[in-house]
Amino acid sequence: MAMLDYYSTRDPNKQGYSFKEALLQGLAPDGGLFVPRLIPKLPKTWQAAPDIASLGFEVFKTWLGEEIPEEKLKAILSDALNFPVLLKTLQDDIYVLELFHGPTLSFKDFGARTMARLMSHFLAEEGRKVTILVATSGDTGSAVADGFAGQEAINVVLLYPKGMVSEVQERQLILKRPGVRALAVRGSFDDCQKLVKSAFVAEDLADIPLSSANSINIGRLLPQMLYYLWAVKDLAARGVERANICVPSGNLGNFTAGYLAWEMGLELGTFLIAHNANRFFPDYLKDKRQAYAFEATIPTLSNAMDVGAPSNFERLHHLFGDRLKEQLWSLSIDDASTKARILSTYQQEAYTICPHTAVGLEAIKHYRNESSDKRPSISLATAHPAKFPSALEALGIASPKDASLEKLFSAELAVTEISPDLTALTEILKS
Ligand SMILES: *Cc1c(COP(=O)(O)O)cnc(C)c1O
Repeated sequence: MAMLDYYSTRDPNKQGYSFKEALLQGLAPDGGLFVPRLIPKLPKTWQAAPDIASLGFEVFKTWLGEEIPEEKLKAILSDALNFPVLLKTLQDDIYVLELFHGPTLSFKDFGARTMARLMSHFLAEEGRKVTILVATSGDTGSAVADGFAGQEAINVVLLYPKGMVSEVQERQLILKRPGVRALAVRGSFDDCQKLVKSAFVAEDLADIPLSSANSINIGRLLPQMLYYLWAVKDLAARGVERANICVPSGNLGNFTAGYLAWEMGLELGTFLIAHNANRFFPDYLKDKRQAYAFEATIPTLSNAMDVGAPSNFERLHHLFGDRLKEQLWSLSIDDASTKARILSTYQQEAYTICPHTAVGLEAIKHYRNESSDKRPSISLATAHPAKFPSALEALGIASPKDASLEKLFSAELAVTEISPDLTALTEILKS
């Protein structure tokens, strides 16, 4: 088998990196994103996998070759992907793929849990240790804190803006976890990001190995391919073929994973990419905007998708270029339509959705009206609605109960408050 290696989107010579190197470095040394030189084909028997971890094993083998012993890979995936993916049926041949049954209730658990275990394996192999430093306001922070907690050779330091996240989000971030320190920064999200960036280049911290776990890491994309496969397999069992898939998107990481699954040979209809008011990608596909003509981020109700400059665009553009415009359909959905979709889904389907999922379902309705394609369509449900109680309550909808969120309110918390300066962070990193 040809060695499956990765290279940087910005390197004209395409120097190769192993999966391990790409995973541990995150970003290429020239600032580019790692992309695979080859996209392997789906293994012939993929549909026989009894669960998503076994499916993961079959698929990862094609991407990783011999880089991880098979038994180890199997153990990593069954430990990481230990929660269900459920496909719910709504009216009019519309389905919702619930990706929020992991410990922190968003699809970010797939990437974070898998990446943590893969990194821990490679670091232990090399006898190295790292501290993962993340600035967060949304679902990534809790998924990373939870996914990396207790992993050998890894510590996590998490920064969030004090008073700027919801109560549920804050509790998810500051839950006491082994190997994780949560810092409430007296400042904004931008202050947190600046602190992280300055820590990475601080001479004072040169002897502390820092790493990041952000959404451009190749280690997140591979596990996120699996639920696209799982959805197609589940639908096939119900006699449905070539459904359309709608992806509520921000940084386009989730969609990039889906596109890779498609390139591996997964049989799908059309990819629908749903954005909120941050509309760079739909505008780009419609030739209303140049590549990389990004704009400042606009705050919306679906805040995990508030991204003015989607970081995975560089990867998509490099790999697929103009094919994106030929093959994809995309739309920007505003907050008023998002709210209306949450309400109508609740009233007509007795089903409660989060604002991100609402953007996806709303885009499917628009696509049905605009095109002659009436095929069954799936929207990814990216977060559990119970994570957004105030958005629901504003519409008169009671937030659904979730046992793991309820536990948060009696769990032990651990947080340190710091001022937004590097001296305070340095002290903590060195202690
Ligand atoms: C992160 C996130 C998204 C956006 O995913 P991208 O990979 O950034 O496109 C959508 N919904 C929820 C709930 C998220 O947490």
